Amino acid sequence: MTEKLFSNVEYNYNLINERIAEAAFKTGRKREDITFLAATKTVDTEIINYAISLGLDHIGENKVQELLSKYDKYDLKNASLQFIGHLQSNKVRQIVDKVDLIQSVDSIKLAGEISKQSLKFGKNTDILIEVNIGREENKSGVYPEQLEELLCQVAQLDGISVRGLMAIPPICESSQKISEYFHKMHNLFIDISSKKLDNISMTILSMGMSADYYEAIMEGANMVRVGSSLFGARDYTK
Ligand SMILES: *Cc1c(COP(=O)(O)O)cnc(C)c1O
Repeated sequence: MTEKLFSNVEYNYNLINERIAEAAFKTGRKREDITFLAATKTVDTEIINYAISLGLDHIGENKVQELLSKYDKYDLKNASLQFIGHLQSNKVRQIVDKVDLIQSVDSIKLAGEISKQSLKFGKNTDILIEVNIGREENKSGVYPEQLEELLCQVAQLDGISVRGLMAIPPICESSQKISEYFHKMHNLFIDISSKKLDNISMTILSMGMSADYYEAIMEGANMVRVGSSLFGARDYTK
């Protein structure tokens, strides 16, 4: 059983890497310009570590409890662990010393708590600002017009550094529609970069998941977060 699972993961890993490389080349970039982060929710650490042994070097969890319960078992010598899900301020201290990047910051309150806890641990935490590019009511992320103000507020804080933007566009029926959201995100990313705000670096644009990472790269993403295409359909019953 596990053997079969391993060989599927290996096959998928190679395929995803090839598609990432192809989309990168088509946009005048190299494979290594794009970061392939595996979204590891519900996946056992044995499988995650197998993917790391194949060369996967970025993993992301989206739940604090799950990250904590798996933390001692990840092979983090060869991979960077990130937090990609919605994060409540009161849980920041449980993970801030364990992750290299928090992708989903969308309020000054959350940023303030990351700053405070990072300083306690004597570290600096890199973050991305999550943008609600589809303006969906019940979704995390700031609206595009709120982005600059939040960036300027976060820039004042110690122990925290903005490294770019992240988005989860609406689930779309057509790949053309989703590409439009990715395109909007890329424009926002370029626009903010060109403003050269103090203490803000715009290097990472994290967008694209299993169904649409190719399109995301075509529109300028340089980090994609892929789960089920790598590990297979998620089993939430475990
Ligand atoms: C689960 C998850 C992904 C990956 O989703 P797939 O469709 O399985 O590739 C990407 N980003 C976030 C924030 C996630 O929680």
